[in-house]
Amino acid sequence: MNEFQKKYQKEIEELVNACHRCAELNYVTSSGGNLSLRIGEDLMLITPTKTLKRTMRFEDICAIKLDGEEVYFPEGKKPTGEWKFHTRIMRRRPDIRAIVHAHPPILTGFAIANDGTMEKPFLPEPIIEVGPILTVPYETPLSEALSERFDEVIEQSNGFLMENHGALFCSFTGIEDAVELLNMTECMAESILVARLLGNPKTITKEYVEEMDWVIKERNLKVPGVEGKFRSVGEMYHLSE
Ligand SMILES: [Zn+2]
Repeated sequence: MNEFQKKYQKEIEELVNACHRCAELNYVTSSGGNLSLRIGEDLMLITPTKTLKRTMRFEDICAIKLDGEEVYFPEGKKPTGEWKFHTRIMRRRPDIRAIVHAHPPILTGFAIANDGTMEKPFLPEPIIEVGPILTVPYETPLSEALSERFDEVIEQSNGFLMENHGALFCSFTGIEDAVELLNMTECMAESILVARLLGNPKTITKEYVEEMDWVIKERNLKVPGVEGKFRSVGEMYHLSE
């Protein structure tokens, strides 16, 4: 273990475990998806390009500054080509500690359909912990244009669909939690599909969505989205005037 790895041992282990968890859940196939974890105001750990998440090793993890500058690349490894949107999001959202981008099958189905379903308030926990799942318009993977597209929505929620591509989740607390938010939302997407099979899915009413503010206070959580953007959950779902 080198000096860098010694210093950030715990954080590197967290990131590697999160990669394995994503692979186990089938949210990343082949070398798809990428994960990052902030380790300083201007510094992040990030997964390497062309490496399976299923077999990700402690020795594979890279570190870059939020302006893209190399801090630590293990021999033969380079950060994911999607480092551009990871760094851009972390710059725009200083409140965010971790990001997971993956291709979970059901949410990605909704990202292909792009019908606005996932923006609606269906279940209490995702409302409180993620917010409305907004869609980032399609752009070519690895492009600067794709990272710029996040500007339009990144302050308004902690969970996103990427049109005809996949999903992205941000966590205030850490990478394990980011993967949990992804898992929670993928499960919600599955439940919405079942509800569609059974009839017409109903959303939670405006009145009850607004009561979520009380739950957030009770549980000592933060309203999703960038600090200060929304004073209430109703506002986040554009329900209060
Ligand atoms: Zn992707």
